[in-house]
Amino acid sequence: MAMNSVGRPTRSQKSQPETTTAAETPTHTGHRALQLEEPLIFEQGNPQGTGVDFEEAKGLMPRLGGLAAGHAPDLPGLSEPEAMRHFVRLSQKNYAIDMGIFPLGSCTMKHNPRLNEKMARLPGFSDIHPLQPASTVQGALELIDRLAGWLKELTAMPAVAMSPKAGAHGELCGMMAIKAAIVAKGEAATRTRVLAPESAHGTNPATAAQCGFTVDDIPADETGRVDLEAFRAKLGPDVAAIMVTNPNTCGLFERDIRALADAVHEVGGYFYCDGANFNAIMGKARPGDLGVDAMHINLHKTFSTPHGGGGPGSGPTVLSDALAPFAPVPFVQHGENGFELVEDVDGDAKDAFGRMVAFHGQMGMFVRALTYMLSHGADGLRQAAEDAVLNANYVLKRLSAEMTPAFPGTCMHEALLDDRFLKDTGVGTLDFAKAMIDEGFHPMTMYFPLVVSGAMLIEPTETESKQGLDQFCDALLALAKEAKAGQTEKFKAAPIYAPRRRLDETGAARKPVLRWTPPGPEAIAAE
Ligand SMILES: *Cc1c(COP(=O)(O)O)cnc(C)c1O
Repeated sequence: MAMNSVGRPTRSQKSQPETTTAAETPTHTGHRALQLEEPLIFEQGNPQGTGVDFEEAKGLMPRLGGLAAGHAPDLPGLSEPEAMRHFVRLSQKNYAIDMGIFPLGSCTMKHNPRLNEKMARLPGFSDIHPLQPASTVQGALELIDRLAGWLKELTAMPAVAMSPKAGAHGELCGMMAIKAAIVAKGEAATRTRVLAPESAHGTNPATAAQCGFTVDDIPADETGRVDLEAFRAKLGPDVAAIMVTNPNTCGLFERDIRALADAVHEVGGYFYCDGANFNAIMGKARPGDLGVDAMHINLHKTFSTPHGGGGPGSGPTVLSDALAPFAPVPFVQHGENGFELVEDVDGDAKDAFGRMVAFHGQMGMFVRALTYMLSHGADGLRQAAEDAVLNANYVLKRLSAEMTPAFPGTCMHEALLDDRFLKDTGVGTLDFAKAMIDEGFHPMTMYFPLVVSGAMLIEPTETESKQGLDQFCDALLALAKEAKAGQTEKFKAAPIYAPRRRLDETGAARKPVLRWTPPGPEAIAAE
């Protein structure tokens, strides 16, 4: 395969005859049907080309002296249609929730309703500036306040910090509030340990460590839930908090959640609940009733705002009465002259642990989330949760015919399978996922949670139809049968229809090549 000067394959497949096989380049051009191959934009066109003609400036007297640039910027020289085509092609290389089912578990890739987008583009929301005087953006502040009201209502929690910009950021917010409460009680030196289940999302232990705590794993029991007795055995006066996800990362409801909360409160610790999976319980169960002290809500998972490559996240964090005084600034408050932003850590917000972001948070996401809530209504949100759980159980039940569920019984919003059905076939979870790509399906989350061997975590979400789920299940069942029938070669070769076959994913992660460097003069001469 031809590489550029930093070892990255950039040329079209046609110009890489060394290692590509006939199966990889079945065409003269390297294109696959209407999927076009092309080099990087810097390797196209010629540097003298341009998409616009500027008139020669008359009587220009440059006054930059020695600071003037010695040469024109190294921009790719393409006409407007060439540039347009390049970027449209690139955009089509990205699989998206708007193209088909996105079954990633633990990510909640929800449909992004168009209405949300329309509302977010209203000039009154999209054209305002965070530094405008509060009196000129009362509508925007009211929107933040209304959204906060819905979040508090849905969670039965008294306060919410709106500014965190992702789930992980919300976790940091919650744990910093917990830390501030511990410091205020004078226990900073002694309360240093955080308990988190082995199955936790990686952001949980990372957040606790970031806040200066040590992290202690709690084992899971044979049903995939926190082992209550093992948990109790780890409690002590040095426990600052537990971090538990509910529904958990195995897609199961932690039935002992009240007992967990009571036990940690008894030793003077706090209960941080990872609320990334709130989608499955909104309108059905309220974290405030379950003894939670802090929980982040991923607006981009539960309230349908775009994420992944598609948009910034937002992770408002609800807080109990004990933690509310430590919430970060800024926050919206009802003042004498309407809504105002509280920003003063020496005044009204004297206990606030500080500020997490420059301004108020992700305004565009707030508009989308509130639009989703208002268009669904309370009953609609409850139904979205019910349908998400129904869809996941439908998939789990159908796939059980050929595949192996990781745990017995029903699940919440995501179905967890393991690789036992592939035993002795020579096919691994990775091979199975690659074969799904050939069948036109984006793979599910693989090898997570780590507590399950060869995990396959599938979250269909509530908006997939029965027909859509059946197509998905039919494809997976057919693949499972083939794997068991010994068609190992097919799985090892997959994907064969994708523009790229198996990639060196470890190399890409460990040694990412993020900058294109122009070829040296020798390379140009050789061409
Ligand atoms: C997605 C997720 C997070 C992190 O949320 P981000 O918005 O991606 O930072 C944390 N915990 C769980 C269980 C999640 O699924």
